[in-house]
Amino acid sequence: MDSSLAQRAPSPHLLIILFLSLISPLRGSSNQFCDAGAEYGKLACGAAATASKILIKGGTVVNAHHKEVSDVYIEDGIISAVQKDIVVADDVKIIDAIGKYVMPGGIDPHTHLAMEFMGTETIDDFFSGQAAALAGGTTMHIDFVIPVNGSLSAGYEAYVKKAERSAMDYGFHMAITKWDDTVSREMEVMVKEKGINSFKFFMAYKGSLMISDELLLEGFKKCKSLGALAMVHAENGDAVFEGQKRMIELGITGPEGHALSRPPALEGEATSRAIRLAGFVNTPLYVVHVMSIDAMEEIAKARKSGQKVIGEPVVSGLELDDSILWDSDFHTAAKQELSFFQK
Ligand SMILES: [Zn+2]
Repeated sequence: MDSSLAQRAPSPHLLIILFLSLISPLRGSSNQFCDAGAEYGKLACGAAATASKILIKGGTVVNAHHKEVSDVYIEDGIISAVQKDIVVADDVKIIDAIGKYVMPGGIDPHTHLAMEFMGTETIDDFFSGQAAALAGGTTMHIDFVIPVNGSLSAGYEAYVKKAERSAMDYGFHMAITKWDDTVSREMEVMVKEKGINSFKFFMAYKGSLMISDELLLEGFKKCKSLGALAMVHAENGDAVFEGQKRMIELGITGPEGHALSRPPALEGEATSRAIRLAGFVNTPLYVVHVMSIDAMEEIAKARKSGQKVIGEPVVSGLELDDSILWDSDFHTAAKQELSFFQK
């Protein structure tokens, strides 16, 4: 979860984020999160139980193309007018936004809430992670469904259950961790019946989620035939495994071992390989959490040549200095390690 993004968002008192999707549920409940996670959208949580009319008055409305001082009128969770000096009736709640920015909520395209992984589980679930995101202005996210023993449908069911504690909008990507005719068929079901249209392939995490180049090619071909987007976690998993063995042999088991075991060259190599294989299949590619200049340069080069490649920025990847991993205080170093590892 990008809790780091939430922490780094501009100070809340400067912003009024448009929690459009939340306006109805919030108004209908005595507890603003519907008693800690009643299923979002259900009447019991207050959603759609009461109509709502809100005027956000006098703020600086910021959109992708420009910003202007304007009023925003919202009815039943939908913006129906953005213009100056909107006059409304008495039954409309007015929020004074003079001197503040009014902007759409952020969308985090990469989260792992309640993810079970190598004998652990991420600490934030669909409620606590979403609550943290909302506090920072992120109002929608896309989580990654991890298949259960390779089964996409079982993984999907498991994540629908995890998301019952949801408090905001979300969508799903899906990881592909093995390959056979069933997986191939299920990808089609996910796209056509479940609304999932992006699939992630892990080139790292040997012995767990990692897939071979052969599977990567099969997956790319299937994505292409379905019109789905192929995504990669691009690190050379075999080399990272070698690096990890080397660290253990050297007795380096602290947070700094993470950086030393997987240098940027291994990310650059896998990014280049994924780009070339996607080019070979002629399908677009989305490279998740770009963490190094090596990977970024491969993506920039491919984009310049006209290939459809998207690089996903991540806050921890934008940090210029990993020296904190060598901090003598374990907890300080480990926290930084966590920000590198959270994807
Ligand atoms: Zn991830």
